[in-house]
Amino acid sequence: MSIRARLALAFALLLGLMFAVAAVTLARLDGLTAKSRELVDHQARRVRLAQQVNQQAQAAAIGLLKLLQTPRREDRVPLYAAMDANLAASDRAVRELGDGLLAPGERPAMARVAEMRQRYGELFQTTVEMIEIDGTAAARTHFEARTGKVLNTLLFEIEALEAGIQARMQNELEALSAATGDARRIVLLLAGIALALGSLLAWAIGRGIVTPLREAVTLAGAIAGGDYRAAVPCCRKDEVGELLRSLGTMRDSIASREARILRLAYEDTLTGLPNRTRLMERLEALPRTASRALAILDIQRFAPINHALGHAVGDRLLSELGARLQRNVGADDTVARLWGDKFAVLFSAADRSGVEAKLNELLARLRQPLSIDGQRLDVDASVGVALHPADAADAVSLMRRASLALDAAKGCQCGYAFAADMAAEPAPEQLSLIGEMREALAGDQFLLHYQPKLDLAGDRVAGAEALIRWHHPRLGMVPPGRFIPFAERTGFIREITPWALRRAVADAAAWQDAGLDIVVAVNLSTRDLLNRDLVAEVSRLLAESGLAPHRLCLEITESALMDDPELALRHLHELAALGLKLSIDDYGTGQASLAYVKTLSVHELKIDRAFVAGVDSAPRNAAIVRSTLLLCRELGLSVVAEGAETPAEIDWLRANRCDLVQGYGIARPMPPDDFVAWMEDRQRVAA
Ligand code: C2E
Ligand code: MG
Ligand code: MG
Repeated sequence: MSIRARLALAFALLLGLMFAVAAVTLARLDGLTAKSRELVDHQARRVRLAQQVNQQAQAAAIGLLKLLQTPRREDRVPLYAAMDANLAASDRAVRELGDGLLAPGERPAMARVAEMRQRYGELFQTTVEMIEIDGTAAARTHFEARTGKVLNTLLFEIEALEAGIQARMQNELEALSAATGDARRIVLLLAGIALALGSLLAWAIGRGIVTPLREAVTLAGAIAGGDYRAAVPCCRKDEVGELLRSLGTMRDSIASREARILRLAYEDTLTGLPNRTRLMERLEALPRTASRALAILDIQRFAPINHALGHAVGDRLLSELGARLQRNVGADDTVARLWGDKFAVLFSAADRSGVEAKLNELLARLRQPLSIDGQRLDVDASVGVALHPADAADAVSLMRRASLALDAAKGCQCGYAFAADMAAEPAPEQLSLIGEMREALAGDQFLLHYQPKLDLAGDRVAGAEALIRWHHPRLGMVPPGRFIPFAERTGFIREITPWALRRAVADAAAWQDAGLDIVVAVNLSTRDLLNRDLVAEVSRLLAESGLAPHRLCLEITESALMDDPELALRHLHELAALGLKLSIDDYGTGQASLAYVKTLSVHELKIDRAFVAGVDSAPRNAAIVRSTLLLCRELGLSVVAEGAETPAEIDWLRANRCDLVQGYGIARPMPPDDFVAWMEDRQRVAA
């Protein structure tokens, strides 16, 4: 039954009860009123009549006694009249009583009164006659002998009648008060019952509404807390049932919407695999000690396939590869698509040999050719692996380590690489520097210092190497060793090198115009030599500045030649063709042999500081430097000894006919103006 109907029924019931109580009360009150009215009207009248009978009879009796003592006739006349009136009044009252005012029990008494009244009337007549005829004395005798006795009996009977009537009235009064008491009790009882029934009803109805409402509140609380499993109490037909059903519907639609949102947030729509966000959450949820391996896979040559065959084929290739990965990992392993052609596998095995075995199998499966739209496609992947917690204990670091390992795997074309084999991670402070580099370039925080290269034979400054500095607003002067390696890793070097070239070429051109005959050297990093725009950029700068090409030298490290030797060599030849000087930097620290250097179109070789330090006193270093000098002379390469600090080292280098020397022993790197001032000083001293 609906709550509305129940409430209506309850109120109706309560009202009914109240009406019943009121009706009973009214009925009782009516009864009591009728009774009291009857008491007032009927009984009081009877008592009054009985009293009248008595009083008038007594008055008549007194009148007779007075008559008996009144000797003179004229005095007796008024007495007769009074006595007649008394008797007549008494008789009237008796008649009135007799006219239905008497209860059946009182009739015998009334009959006795009537009988005595009649006998008294006869005797009274006789007495009066004797008074008038025989005189009062004879009449008195007669009165005492006969009339007086009857009169006494009459008065006695009248009194008895009155007493009876009085007693009856008393009884009626008592009965009335008893009836009033009864009525009060009944009304009280009924009111009590109504109250109890009302309370019971209120409790039952309240319970019937509050209990399911509480269930609704609990259900709503569960929904708010994200628990969609709590059962919806069924089968109620009332409004709360409706509310509960609506809550159930609401819960189901919230749950399905939430599931959809979760799917959109956590699932890669192309492959149906967990996406990067989902993977990161799983990684973040890993207990610190849990052993896992995170592998990031990069599909090789995906971009050319995508370009050549169209995005539709590219998409199908990715979803096919995703499915392949999913099919070929263990039940406890997770496959996710990160973005583009990058997938990740979180292996539950975490020992290196176990992961290697799994990876070999997975890569073998992945390499099996697949056919899309009749096109046979051969795919391969590079994989970077980081182990949790050995390589990194948090999600972000684990991803970064695996990405760095992936870069290495791509570079070495060796299938997969482990993070543990990579160089150490940049320190957090360096990470923040990496983030600030772009701002630094825009904010003109980079500058070049120049370190002279001294021609030992002619004792003249033949050139200067431009060395970058970062004037950091917080950290002061930051040396290149602290940011160049990371600029190389992040690719930001592609912006730094053009800047350094522009600055150095501008300075060199200014010095050329000022008549300074020096070669300015700029350092190139590993990736610069693979940059297709480099040659064009350099030739444009030369053309714009008017700097003679032979006044610009580019310093290249051996490793720059190793990544993509073909391309690097081509660029090297093109640069040489522009008429620039090219220099091999840090010679001796890499793998390149002089035989190899010979094949390159370079003009200069810089022996690394490691061999120059203590060359005058360390026979091993002396031997290496001496043999290098000899060979370079043979090959027509000029040699720069880097990092000569002491006069003894410089003397040794001069004695061994080293062409050029660069080091603190000559001068430290200095700002352009200082460098010019230093040059002028030297010239003045020489002059
Ligand atoms: P590098 O090209 O071999 O430069 C020579 C480094 O040796 C410079 O360090 C220089 O200050 C330092 N040096 C010179 N003489 C001495 C000496 O007598 N004793 C000692 N202890 N050190 C000496 P710097 O300026 O810190 O540069 C370090 C490296 O950073 C450079 O090595 C170069 O590889 C790189 N670098 C510097 N500027 C640039 C740049 O503009 N672009 C690129 N790509 N790399 C740069
Ligand atoms: Mg250098
Ligand atoms: Mg060097």
